[in-house]
Amino acid sequence: MHPRGRLWLVCIVLLTVPWTHASAEGQASDQFCSLIPVLEADGERANASVAWQVGLGPRLPGSNASEALLTGLEERHTSWSFTRDAHPYGATGLTNLVAMYPPEADLSTDLALGFGAHYDTRHMADREADEANRSTPIPGANDGASGVAAVEELMHLIPTMNLDHAVVVVMFDAEDQGPVPELEGSRRWADNLSEAEREHLAGFVLLDMVGDASLDLANISSNHPALNNVMKPLSEAMGLVSGHEGCAGTTTRDVYQPDVRAWIGDDHLNINAVEIPAMVIIDHRYGPNVTKLDDGYWHSLQDTPDKVSAESLETVARLVELGLRSGAWMEAVTPEDPVEEPPTVEPQPITFAGPLGLLMLGWAFVIGLASISIVAIVALRRLRPPPASTTWSWDEA
Ligand SMILES: [Zn+2]
Repeated sequence: MHPRGRLWLVCIVLLTVPWTHASAEGQASDQFCSLIPVLEADGERANASVAWQVGLGPRLPGSNASEALLTGLEERHTSWSFTRDAHPYGATGLTNLVAMYPPEADLSTDLALGFGAHYDTRHMADREADEANRSTPIPGANDGASGVAAVEELMHLIPTMNLDHAVVVVMFDAEDQGPVPELEGSRRWADNLSEAEREHLAGFVLLDMVGDASLDLANISSNHPALNNVMKPLSEAMGLVSGHEGCAGTTTRDVYQPDVRAWIGDDHLNINAVEIPAMVIIDHRYGPNVTKLDDGYWHSLQDTPDKVSAESLETVARLVELGLRSGAWMEAVTPEDPVEEPPTVEPQPITFAGPLGLLMLGWAFVIGLASISIVAIVALRRLRPPPASTTWSWDEA
């Protein structure tokens, strides 16, 4: 090819790269849009789970209510296999409930995504306005039951999804005990994962306080921005980002607010701590017109089922379901095949052995001989006697 033709080809390739990338992003959201009609997470069923859990009474570690909740989950999700992950904790002990799908999957050998929530409820309503009530346990409709209810929706649906990876669900105990929430159940679970289990757990999405009838989800920091960044395209597709084009047109719903950033101490931090990508979906502004965590109904006796809505539970459960069905969560935590680097050319030491060496020696000999000849010719010319003197004349014309 003519060099100029080659230059044009390079220019065309360089100009095309950004556009092919943009169209790949467009296809991703088309893929979300085609899946939205098949989402099945059911807000009414999730809301009924919240009512059931709250009806058991405070789910304190080691309590009968906790035991009834765990037994109930095992009985409701018979397609899953369950393990109880028990640890010493105060006078009562704590018990995380670990579920696997497919039931024969093994986290030490099978690639898995993790989902979870804490099921315990705070032992004291320390944000209660009336000091006399601050030692009473909270009902935990949003702070406890809503996360479990949304994860239960995934547990109902995952066996029908034909995923190409396993799923581990963990319901954590002892998140909300202690003077400040201790996150103890998740710490024990994460710290006891074997190296093989850590390697096979690609990422973990935690759900906590996802039922607030006035749902607003901030952009919560995570140790793995790529996992966290999935929230925005999923939310946009579902029409949850105000002013953005969703699959059903421009939305006015203002549920996910990518520009409102927050750091929240929750169970995902303990999973972060053992270097597994982990994030939390949480509405940390519980109640209408609430601007921060320690306002509203959080850690108070007002955390009751009437503050939680089926619509909010369904929105969050479907958002997570969309990420699962599309593969977006898994893609975020499993990097594409690494691009093959061109082989680096090691500078070779120059040696005079072999045919190349002989050639170079030959050239050196020729150049040396030529130089000597030139010097000799110049020297001989200088030794010649000067020619007879020449007379110059100038004519003025
Ligand atoms: Zn809490």
